[in-house]
Amino acid sequence: MRILEHTFEEYLKIVKSFHGYEAPGVVIGGLMVDAAVRNLANDIPYNAICETQSCLPDAIQILTPCTIGNGWLKIIYSGRYAMALYDKSNGEGVRVFLDAEKVEPWKEIKAWYLKLKSKSEQDSGEILREIKDAGDSILSIQHVCIKPHIAMKKHKGKIALCPKCREAYPSDSGDICTACQGETPYL
Ligand code: ZN
Repeated sequence: MRILEHTFEEYLKIVKSFHGYEAPGVVIGGLMVDAAVRNLANDIPYNAICETQSCLPDAIQILTPCTIGNGWLKIIYSGRYAMALYDKSNGEGVRVFLDAEKVEPWKEIKAWYLKLKSKSEQDSGEILREIKDAGDSILSIQHVCIKPHIAMKKHKGKIALCPKCREAYPSDSGDICTACQGETPYL
């Protein structure tokens, strides 16, 4: 069983170094990206959509050229454990999701997926064994077409200097930057 060009064990090592530990979500995410890439038409330049911000984006960033930073990976917040890769030129692509029905026979994967056990109760070795055995049998694939306003690259507008903090910001946020408007994470 391979995850794109990696063996399962090689992939676990990459996950550990990138994500900090062998999180089940990133490992399953590897299977999902592998399935998506295999189901795309050959060698097209693609973008990615991820429907959750936890774990899955890291699998996409490890295995594809799509990252948050380069803008080829967009996160939308449906919260479903799903991702899509699509042709940049026409929005056509494949969506892969972790299928709750197919997960049913896999006790540990199910407990992780549906949060039936706390993290401390989960047996990570057993989950990884189940993931390796299950492979892509726990996934479902759909052919999708991405809505044009999501598929299109967003162009940044003009930049202004905020009169309050003196830092550069996108001028379409208003007369002062959003941080100075109150949306700051800092106390
Ligand atoms: Zn400001």
